[in-house]
Amino acid sequence: MSTRVLDPLEQPVQYVRGVGPRVAQAFARLGIRTVEDLLYHLPRRYEDRSRFTTLYEAAHDGFATFRVRVVRLREPPLRSGKKLTEVYVTDGTAVAVAKFWGRRHVDKVLSPGTEVVLWGRVRRERGQIEIESPEFERATGEDETLHTGRVVPVHPATEQLSPRLVRRAVHEALEAFARRVPEPLPGPVRSRYGLLPTPEALWKVHFPTSEEEAERARRTLAFAEFLELELALLLRRRGVVTATKPHRYREDGGLLEAFVRSLPFQLTSAQRRAIEQIRREMYSPHPMNRLLQGDVGSGKTVVAAAAVVVCVGGGHQAAVMAPTEILAEQHYLTFRRFLEPVGVRVVLLVGGMRKAEREEVLAEVARGEADLVVGTHALLQEDVVFDRLALAVVDEQHKFGVAQRAALRAKGHEPDVLVMTATPIPRTLALTLYGDLDVSVLDELPPGRQPVRTYHRYPDARPRVYEFVRKEVQAGRQAYVVCPLVEESDRLDASAAVELYERMRSEVFPDLRVGLLHGRMPVADKEAVMEAFRRGEVQVLVATPVIEVGVDVPNATVMVVEDADRFGLAQLHQLRGRVGRSGHRSYCILISALPTEEARRRIHALVETHDGFRIAQVDLELRGPGEFFGTRQHGLPDFRVADPIRDVALLEQARQAAEWILQEDPHLERAEHRVLRERLLRRYAESGAYLAVG
Ligand code: ADP
Ligand code: MG
Repeated sequence: MSTRVLDPLEQPVQYVRGVGPRVAQAFARLGIRTVEDLLYHLPRRYEDRSRFTTLYEAAHDGFATFRVRVVRLREPPLRSGKKLTEVYVTDGTAVAVAKFWGRRHVDKVLSPGTEVVLWGRVRRERGQIEIESPEFERATGEDETLHTGRVVPVHPATEQLSPRLVRRAVHEALEAFARRVPEPLPGPVRSRYGLLPTPEALWKVHFPTSEEEAERARRTLAFAEFLELELALLLRRRGVVTATKPHRYREDGGLLEAFVRSLPFQLTSAQRRAIEQIRREMYSPHPMNRLLQGDVGSGKTVVAAAAVVVCVGGGHQAAVMAPTEILAEQHYLTFRRFLEPVGVRVVLLVGGMRKAEREEVLAEVARGEADLVVGTHALLQEDVVFDRLALAVVDEQHKFGVAQRAALRAKGHEPDVLVMTATPIPRTLALTLYGDLDVSVLDELPPGRQPVRTYHRYPDARPRVYEFVRKEVQAGRQAYVVCPLVEESDRLDASAAVELYERMRSEVFPDLRVGLLHGRMPVADKEAVMEAFRRGEVQVLVATPVIEVGVDVPNATVMVVEDADRFGLAQLHQLRGRVGRSGHRSYCILISALPTEEARRRIHALVETHDGFRIAQVDLELRGPGEFFGTRQHGLPDFRVADPIRDVALLEQARQAAEWILQEDPHLERAEHRVLRERLLRRYAESGAYLAVG
């Protein structure tokens, strides 16, 4: 039997007084299963209900708190059959009617003569004062009130769980458990950064006396989350830095120089710098763990190819993983074009391959005959076995989760890892969030690039837009027409694309060669149409947003986006990045009726600027940090309290504190770090490997 004492916070939420099985089930739907989940279910906002207003003074359409006495109840019959309870109340200055709809048994609590505190929105209708579905509580005088007469927390709730019920449950949980919450933050850290003891922070974040107090409490809880993350990153980094890789690369005998000379262009100095950093690290005895950041079109692929040359020239195997089949296929062709001249054998591995073909590829990889495998997450399957994988490259890494990156790494023994991303995040933030990685930045575009001219057009201007496309095509260029995104559904996206394609082919451009590309086409068809587009045989490519990442056809100069308001800013920026990839002047035309103010701002931002960082900033402002920095997008851990953008200063402090702690106590063995160590192991299990005594 396990001797571990059950952490009181890990008990099911049902242990909280007043929470029965039904309510517990409703909580589960909010992701709240344990007492701890409930304690960290933070208010969405606070309402200051600490000041009472008189009914006489209450303004129309404002929220206010009243202390009143119930005069009488009425249940007027309604034709709709709904149940309405009208409660007449007075505070001596006027009479008001509080209206309650539905099943609530308000009559049990609000019997005539009862003194209550009400909170709600006031309406003045034809001389009558109405308060629609107010929150209420019996006013018992000296008793502390929970729902009114104070700064009241409003928690995220659902239909089955009213804010009132959640508030009551949180209060009960705090009373019973807050004292027993183990303190993760060591005393010196708390005093240095002005943080509260954790139990106090939990009380105050839910039931503050002022918004300032609530914010200080929230900072404390956020700090603890950041501290765990930073400790995990620093430990991982320490693990990587001190690990010794089993493989060493032979000197490549001038292969890298030959590769660079064989390129049809001169490398930018940013590219040269990044390649040099990568090469030096690959030759070092410790595994590389590097992030290559660069805006769309900055030329990350050729840098990755250079790393592959160092690897293969040194006698080992490399893998490149991309988020979509289309991108993997294109990378396959690009890498072949770059690398076959210097004798590197490249193979492709994606999900939709025929069995025999796949087995052939697997055999080549296992025997070590394939030097480079390019693929999708199909690379992660169990039967993919490398002979001597020493370099793992992940493109568009924000599309992958942490686990997928780790799975690729596990295909080799301490391989060198290069991850690439076009997601522009501020550098300090990158260093802190990817604190286990070194960062190279491509802050320079290849020469001769002209900014893509970007225009917004209303739908009625379509004929002129299409005329413009025809002129460009007649001048020898090519165009994309991207159809609107349909609610994340592959199937609907596909049918929208087919429809648009039919219209383009038969009505709009019967004289041009039009192609179709969408995610649900068989691999072979996708490959064929991309190949035809690359060769210039297809002049206008109608596509779903699957082409968003990475597609590279330099002769394409026009990007038309239908219903552009359906796309996010980052996505539009990526789509625009498909053109402007050569010296030809390029255009991006965003068609939209601008249905909302937000849409207008988004489209406007894109017309105004080409700078990925600036666009990320606007995106952040429009969407708010939570969504922009959605963990899915960025492969970050889920934070319950902290917000990496809004709390960036706090994040930096947590980084400092983590460094400080590990310096004093490299394996978190001291008593004051015990709780921190346990929580770290619970959330970042792999940290255990780096915490072993030694
Ligand atoms: P991204 O960083 O978006 O992945 P790519 O690697 O796809 O960019 O490169 C964009 C385009 O620029 C490709 O067509 C590539 O061949 C070309 N390119 C890359 N580096 C240079 C350079 N130094 N000079 C000219 N063209 C370049
Ligand atoms: Mg790319």
